[in-house]
Amino acid sequence: MAGNGYNPYEEVVSVIEKAAAMLGLGENEYKMFEYPERELKVSIPVEMDDKSIKIFEGYRVQHSSCRGPCKGGIRYHPDVNLDEVKALATWMTFKCAVVNIPYGGAKGGIKVNPRELSKEELKRLTKNYTARILPLIGPDSDIPAPDVNTGEEIMGWIMDAYSMYKGQNVFSVVTGKPVEIGGSLGRREATGRGVTIITKEVLKRAGIPVKGARIAIQGIGNAGGVAAQQLENEGCKIVAISDTSASLYNDEGLDIEDILEYKKGNGVKRPLSEYNFRAGKRISDFELLTCDADVLIPAALENQVNERVARNLKAKVVVEAANGPTTLEADRILEEKGVMVVPDILANAGGVVVSYFEWVQNNQAITWEEEEVNHKLEKVMLKAFNDVLKKAGEKNTTLRMGAYMLALERLAKVNKLRG
Ligand code: GLU
Repeated sequence: MAGNGYNPYEEVVSVIEKAAAMLGLGENEYKMFEYPERELKVSIPVEMDDKSIKIFEGYRVQHSSCRGPCKGGIRYHPDVNLDEVKALATWMTFKCAVVNIPYGGAKGGIKVNPRELSKEELKRLTKNYTARILPLIGPDSDIPAPDVNTGEEIMGWIMDAYSMYKGQNVFSVVTGKPVEIGGSLGRREATGRGVTIITKEVLKRAGIPVKGARIAIQGIGNAGGVAAQQLENEGCKIVAISDTSASLYNDEGLDIEDILEYKKGNGVKRPLSEYNFRAGKRISDFELLTCDADVLIPAALENQVNERVARNLKAKVVVEAANGPTTLEADRILEEKGVMVVPDILANAGGVVVSYFEWVQNNQAITWEEEEVNHKLEKVMLKAFNDVLKKAGEKNTTLRMGAYMLALERLAKVNKLRG
């Protein structure tokens, strides 16, 4: 989020600059990737349940279409702003290039706290937002997906709004839809599954046995919650987990199944602050980020692992399930301390990879078994992990710089080929 002088867009541009310099690229080869192709700001009038009209602010940014249609989620959050959406769109371009799927990058968002809206209000907001961004989106131009506080239901509404405008069903305009209306099996768990695959791999490289590895996870949403469950199934100890209301800690490992069951509630998510602990204690967010763990998985928002957290961090490995959780300054400190950081554009790419699979299935009007989806996902993630590792090794640098160099090389090459 913006604030305290932190600007995620400026940060990603300086990482691109650094990657370009390390690759020895000339300005003509990479400068265009420091400017989004299109930025759209929209005002969205919504009739509230009390019949009053409220105007919401929304965005859709297309960063690059050079490797394929623009691709990226839509976020509903009170802190959404243009610089954040621009940064998130840029990360999508680099993420899709790292895992080598034929997409560019985009992102959208609405400045709203969805918990303050009724379901009908949320539906009207979503349909009106879709109408406003309609000139940009389409199955061959720009394909939205879920992100923070959006999920299958909202994607279904977007698909419906777009289809009504077109006068026919266009399933492939959006991914992360309910399975009944063209969603892919395995898409819901895909980001968390990707994080699990990468975490296991990086533990192996770091010489830490998966069984008994101590993991702290900030965030229990779609990415953090699924990763927690899967890593626990793999024999890891989830020693800490949090939501926006509280952070829980148990040195012996938390009962993740029980916590997730509680969290689900009866369809309405319940806050961890009211969770009835069997064993363990409550800690602060800072304590969670710096607790005694082998792996820290930030799975919430940007700007969480800052300078102070980095200085006090005890984990040996950070796997970025969120987009942009580590600030540049913190990244520098972690490098100095020898902490291995798996960057967001690799670690959380599982979501967009299975989005791509969903789009492929929609375009061909076929459905793949969940096993097939998961198998293909694992293959793509491991290939990308090894590509990044190799690139970082070649240039004797961090995994973040390895990932950015790999992506930038692919982007610059395509740009050159296209003339
Ligand atoms: N919002 C997810 C991300 O940040 C998924 C994007 C997608 O599936 O297009 O990667």
